[in-house]
Amino acid sequence: MANQILTLANGETISYLLEHRPRRTVGLKITADGLVVHAPKRIFAFQLNQILQEKSGWILNKLQARAANQVAAIEWVDGEHLLYLSQDIQLTIVKNSSNKALVLDANTLIMATPTPDNHALVHRKVVHWYQKQAMADFGRRLTILAAKLGVPTPPLTLSNAKSRWGSCNSRGEVRLNWRLLQAPPNIINYVICHELAHLKQMNHSAKFWAVVESLFPDYKQAEKALKALSPQLHRM
Ligand SMILES: [Zn+2]
Repeated sequence: MANQILTLANGETISYLLEHRPRRTVGLKITADGLVVHAPKRIFAFQLNQILQEKSGWILNKLQARAANQVAAIEWVDGEHLLYLSQDIQLTIVKNSSNKALVLDANTLIMATPTPDNHALVHRKVVHWYQKQAMADFGRRLTILAAKLGVPTPPLTLSNAKSRWGSCNSRGEVRLNWRLLQAPPNIINYVICHELAHLKQMNHSAKFWAVVESLFPDYKQAEKALKALSPQLHRM
């Protein structure tokens, strides 16, 4: 680990932490301390410099957003970082003669496409992948938590709402926002417990919260955490 200085073409400088790792590509990360670069053990300084110069637009944008204490918008490009069950995963776009299904390999979400520069397409494909995973993941949790409450598993649909994380209608159907798949598992469990509790109480009365508490004792903490997390979950 070493502190380095990157000098851009316009003379502006960016300091960063360089960490050598057993990997073949250069990875960039913006943390609370600034830019962190993970580089292969055998890389020439001029090669690393060239890569950082090419990525300087992305780096500056992220550093500015961090300085302004904002959540930076996702850029649908190779190397972007995404959240998956609160884990940091990196989007890797590979140019390929045909489109292939996305694959999550360890912490890398791999997309093979003939048009890696088509940001709208990349965006659509990633959202579609999240929705597919969300359906499976939320479905499993819903089955387990419904059994805990002693009710049959309700039908599940995904929502794309901008302001709500979940809902439960009078027909007993549960809708969950696919963006929740970015959240920590316990937050997803809380939202599911909340909606399941509506199968017993179609309101937010004290009786309702007692049902929530029986399923998810730490619900107040989860509700707070979800609120704090919302801007980040809405990036996507
Ligand atoms: Zn509610």
